[in-house]
Amino acid sequence: MRENKNLSWVRVNKNNRCPICHKTDWCLLAADGTAVICARIESAIDAGSKGAGWVHRLDDSVKPVVMRDVAAHFPLAAIERRDLAYNCLLSALTLSDLHRENLYQRGLSDRDIDDLGYKTISHDCTDGIVQRIKGITRLAGIPGFYLENGAVRLSSPSGTLIPVRDAEYRIQALQVRCDNTEHGKYKWVSSNGKYLGCSSGTPIHISHQDNLQNQEIWITEGALKADVAAIKLRKCILAVAGVANWRGIIPVILELKPSWVVVAFDMDKRTNELVQRHCKDMEQALLQITNDVFEADWNSDYKGLDDFSTSSTFSTSSTSSSVLDIFRPVSASFDKGANQ
Ligand SMILES: [Zn+2]
Repeated sequence: MRENKNLSWVRVNKNNRCPICHKTDWCLLAADGTAVICARIESAIDAGSKGAGWVHRLDDSVKPVVMRDVAAHFPLAAIERRDLAYNCLLSALTLSDLHRENLYQRGLSDRDIDDLGYKTISHDCTDGIVQRIKGITRLAGIPGFYLENGAVRLSSPSGTLIPVRDAEYRIQALQVRCDNTEHGKYKWVSSNGKYLGCSSGTPIHISHQDNLQNQEIWITEGALKADVAAIKLRKCILAVAGVANWRGIIPVILELKPSWVVVAFDMDKRTNELVQRHCKDMEQALLQITNDVFEADWNSDYKGLDDFSTSSTFSTSSTSSSVLDIFRPVSASFDKGANQ
């Protein structure tokens, strides 16, 4: 059984019973389903340091196990371990000239880009990268990483990696601005559905320039957009991955306790009924926890908050009061048809 030396082993469970003793506990299955360490039934091979039991090769006599429902069963690692693993990953990567150029066009400087930690990821490099970082930190429970034939792998589309951070600047998850936008421009680095993988969820990105004590918080859609706007507006900006994911905003607002909140979704909200609906629901939920909620409107020539904040009509010297004319106070709606 020398070939099993490098196999990863996972505990049997009710979905994946031990094929030797048919119990749902104690025994260990090889990640690729080709062997088992049975804790109850002896074989000629003592498992030794691998675990208490005996190794059984699964072949013709006992068929290899097809793992069932094990995907996404690995619990999400604590924020400290995700932050460490993702920082290791980012420090092993560089940013391509093309991606850097794209970020310049969004209004970011080299210093901004370095501070934010944006890097380039490509399919070809992921195996080499995993080899470099897996010795530094455990990767189980880190969204994006999973096991395949006993080896740790990273699942990510090729593109620009965008760290999604919490209020303490820790990386909660990674998003990718995809090079191939055929199936969507932005994707999470997630191994949901992969063997021993883990879902990223849809955490709220908190972008700020050391101004968390600022009494004002803006809400927009998209982490990159929030980063650009936070730098240009010098404000704390929260980003939902999509307007439908707004519910995660509420606990963040409760924690940060701003005096007022400005909702600043893309101007296509004017024509998109679904966006309008989520926006209205979020605003009503916000009004339950804070008195002052505003909706920001601007010239629809500028689609998003980032476009607006980097435009010539807005400069970094602007103060809140000078842009207040674009704010519309949101009032509580008790009758759905009566709002505004
Ligand atoms: Zn067993």
